[in-house]
Formats: sequence, structure tokens, C-alpha cells
Amino acid sequence: MNAPFPTILPTYNRAPLRFARGEGSWLVEEDGTHYLDFTSGIAVNALGHAHPELVATLTEQAHALWHVSNLYQIPAQENLATALVEHSFADTAFFTNSGTEAAELAIKMVRKFWHDAGEARPTILTFEGAFHGRSTGAIAAAGSEKMTKGFGPLMPGFKTLPWGDHDALRTALDDTVAAVMIEPIQGEGGIRPLPDACLKGLRDLCDETGALMVLDEVQCGMGRTGRLFAHEWAGISPDIMMVAKGIGGGFPLGAVLATARVGAAMGAGTHGSTYGGNPLACAVGTKVVEIMTAPGFMDAVSRKGAALRQSLEGLCATHPDVIEEIRGMGLMMGLKCHVPNTDLVQAARDAQLLVVPAADNVVRLLPPLTITEDEIAEACQRLERAIRRLG
Ligand code: PLP
Repeated sequence: MNAPFPTILPTYNRAPLRFARGEGSWLVEEDGTHYLDFTSGIAVNALGHAHPELVATLTEQAHALWHVSNLYQIPAQENLATALVEHSFADTAFFTNSGTEAAELAIKMVRKFWHDAGEARPTILTFEGAFHGRSTGAIAAAGSEKMTKGFGPLMPGFKTLPWGDHDALRTALDDTVAAVMIEPIQGEGGIRPLPDACLKGLRDLCDETGALMVLDEVQCGMGRTGRLFAHEWAGISPDIMMVAKGIGGGFPLGAVLATARVGAAMGAGTHGSTYGGNPLACAVGTKVVEIMTAPGFMDAVSRKGAALRQSLEGLCATHPDVIEEIRGMGLMMGLKCHVPNTDLVQAARDAQLLVVPAADNVVRLLPPLTITEDEIAEACQRLERAIRRLG
């Protein structure tokens, strides 16, 4: 007899782990086995699991109001927008439920901006190795064969450039370009940071040609690098930015932040969402921003990031047969491997350490930003055990 088709559409290769609960930096399986979580739900549980202040905020909001339509004013949404505007380049925010939805709005915003300006600018430039989500628009934007195969015809209007090829960028970036869309640190692409000088140079090129700069900070934003947003290190600001993952600390929430100049293109009726900006998500998001922007929080992320990097560099030096290179910033680190990255992910899991594979044969380390230095040391010991098994 044929096996029945899986009740969950089999789009994921899932590890045989079933977690019953999370506590800070730890995930606990149904049988009580504890795993040190250096995935954070792929950069989502930025404040760890079951953070007491987030639990209290969510519970309090759940007792008051879960959902109300965007047909009405939503104070929790206003609070979060005000906090984000206060702590970023942006003048305005639209809330979504995910990074993909944020990418969709960013693309619409770019197109509508140029439509209103009366200029024909059909192209958005994107980069090889990019990941902006799995919607039809987002896969067309990233352009990789792996994500787009079988899903054509693709949405037109994107041109994908090689990563780090300045000449290709200068040639492509003319006054027919509507926007350049880029992750300051590619996450899925293998923890590939764009050097500050390149981000600055890109901003200059955008200013010269009028193209809008759209930053995708869905993975690298919300404190991962030791600043609230990764682009802050380069001292530049975008016109539009996508945010998600860490902003909800585990509650589904995303946002598009924009300047007033660009946001002005999106009047009533141009975009919407049933759930986007709901009171539960926004109450939690506001608390996340409050915690992350409290004095000392980001300094601690940078300090812990430096400790993690130092230990990882040590592992790379002692095990050059397994680890080729350490990449990343803050608590967004990547190990470029000589062995298949999935072997290292599996060996780490056997040592009860959870890490995430990425493209370019990289293993990602994305611990909660609330990780302790002792937990970092513990993780590095477990990683070393895993590496020894493979070397
Ligand atoms: N953009 C980047 C940089 C991402 O890393 C992701 C998810 O991994 C997305 C967009 C899509 O976000 P979501 O999965 O929340 O739709």
C-alpha cells in the first residue's frame, strides 16, 4: 500500500527533533533533552525563548484586544511606528506579518514612486546570492535558479548582478534603474557582509543616478550586528528598508520603513493587510524595540559578538581542515566549511548545539542577542567536539 501523502506539505527537510518548550537560549525536546539554540528560529527569537517581558506584554495585550481592522486606528501600531521612526532614518512605517510581505511592499513602493514621478524606470537591481522571500515577486528579485525553477513566468523588472562586482554595478546603474535592493549582510547567501565602503559607494551611486536604495534588513537588522540596523555602521541611510524576524521576537511581524518622500507615493487604497500591524504583534514589537534600545544592550551584543568571533577564529586556526574562514558581524556569524556544511550542522546537533546551514557551504551561528558569555563558551566547546568528529 502506498504511504499516505504527508498531512504537512513536504516543502521542508525537517530534522527529527520535536521541541516542547524554549527557555532563554535553550530549546527543550519532548523527552527533556536540552539544545543550545544558535539558530534563534533563523534570527527570529532575538531575545531568546519565553522572554519574561515579552510574555507579560503579549499576555496583557491578549486580555485587552487581539485583532482590529486597519479600518480603525490602532494605538499599539502607532506606538511601534513612533519607536521605529525615533530609532531609524525612517519617517513612516507599514506593518506586515513577514519579511516576504515587506519585500512585496518595498517593490510596490519603488514602482509607485517612479510612476508618480512620471519617469520610466523599469528595473530594480538585485544581487546573486540574495534572499528576499518566497513570493513570486521575491523569487524573481533574487533570481536564483534554485528558487525560481518551475515557477515561471517570473515577474519582470529585476536584473541580478554578481555580488561584489563594482564594474558590473557601475555599468548597470543608470537612470533607467528604479532602485537597488540589497542585504547589508547576505544571510541565506552565506553570511556575506557588504563592506562599509561598498555600502557608502552604493549610496553615492544611487544619489548620482536618482535610484532608490532599498535595504533588506530582515535577517541582519534588529540588533544582530551590534547596532539596531546593520547599515548604521556605514553611516548611510536607505530610502526604504524591510525589517522582520527579530522585530517580533518570535511573534509574526514585519515592517517596511521609508522616508516621507518615498512613502508619499502610497496613499489610501494603494496597499493593505488584514493582519499586518495587529495589536498583539505591535505590542510585542514595541517591547522588543524598547529592550533593544535600552542603554547598554547593543554594547553587550558587540562585546558578546567579539567573544564569539575570537573563539571561532581559534577553532578555525586549530581545525583548518574543517573550517576555512569566519565571516560576519556581531551575533551573525558564518563558518565557511571545507567539509559539507550539512555534516557540521548534523555533528553539532549530535552535540546538542543547533546551527543553521546557508549557501556557499556556510554554517550560520545566530544565537539570541541575550546569550550569555558562558553560553557562548559552552557553544564553542560543543562546536569543537562536532568539528573533531569531522576532522
Ligand atoms: N529577506 C531576508 C534577508 C531574509 O533572510 C528572509 C527570510 O529568511 C526574508 C526576506 C523573508 O522573510 P520571511 O521568511 O519572514 O517571509
